[in-house]
Amino acid sequence: MHVLASGSDGNCTVIQYDDEAIMVDAGLSYSKTHKLMEAEGIDESAITALLVTHEHADHVGGVGPISRKLGIPVYCNPATFGSFNHGKAEYVMTQTLQRFGVGEFSVLPLPTMHDAADPNAYNITVGGKNILIATDTGVFTFPLRQALSDADFAIVEANYDQKMLRDGPYPESLKRRIESDHGHMCNVISAKEIKDTAVNENRKIFLGHLSKHNNTPDIARDTVARITGIKRYKLDCLEFMGDTRTVEL
Ligand SMILES: [Zn+2]
Ligand SMILES: [Zn+2]
Repeated sequence: MHVLASGSDGNCTVIQYDDEAIMVDAGLSYSKTHKLMEAEGIDESAITALLVTHEHADHVGGVGPISRKLGIPVYCNPATFGSFNHGKAEYVMTQTLQRFGVGEFSVLPLPTMHDAADPNAYNITVGGKNILIATDTGVFTFPLRQALSDADFAIVEANYDQKMLRDGPYPESLKRRIESDHGHMCNVISAKEIKDTAVNENRKIFLGHLSKHNNTPDIARDTVARITGIKRYKLDCLEFMGDTRTVEL
């Protein structure tokens, strides 16, 4: 798992298995993504597909150029496809809750609750490992909970600390949007979901999509550790702008 970016400045994850890889979201430019992939030792030519979760700019900003430069098709559902300006690229239509395959990867798009056309999380199975990428959701839907409980590795949104958001600089309307059931998950709700689904002792949790204005890695980790009982050092996340992470499963 290569987490190249996670947050409102851009999202991009690459999952590699043997000599195959897929990318989930492309919120950064091609040149930035290219540099990060080089730094993480990702062979660009191994990537065979680009999966899009939803049409917000921090997830699709680089979709057109990246899919063209890499010569790979973009996978998303029709509502998402119709909601952003993607330019020329090859598209493969998916359906929420309908499993599809990309090489060795088996992918199940799951419904999230977010202010987008038909937003998805992705549950990806490869090499006997079960991976969940679930950000940009105000609450966890039932299929998301199920996938989180089965996951070996899960990126779970911990977008904001409630007090920081309320005391912070955002206008009231934006605060309400973020806090709504179709916004983002706060540290506490994220922690409760992680705790309620804790059946697999070996599950690795990666806290994702942290707000740079309304959260800090320390606060997110402390809150989730306190509520779930998971050791603080076992909760990974990106620490600063431009940070990346490679996790072996
Ligand atoms: Zn986002
Ligand atoms: Zn979003």
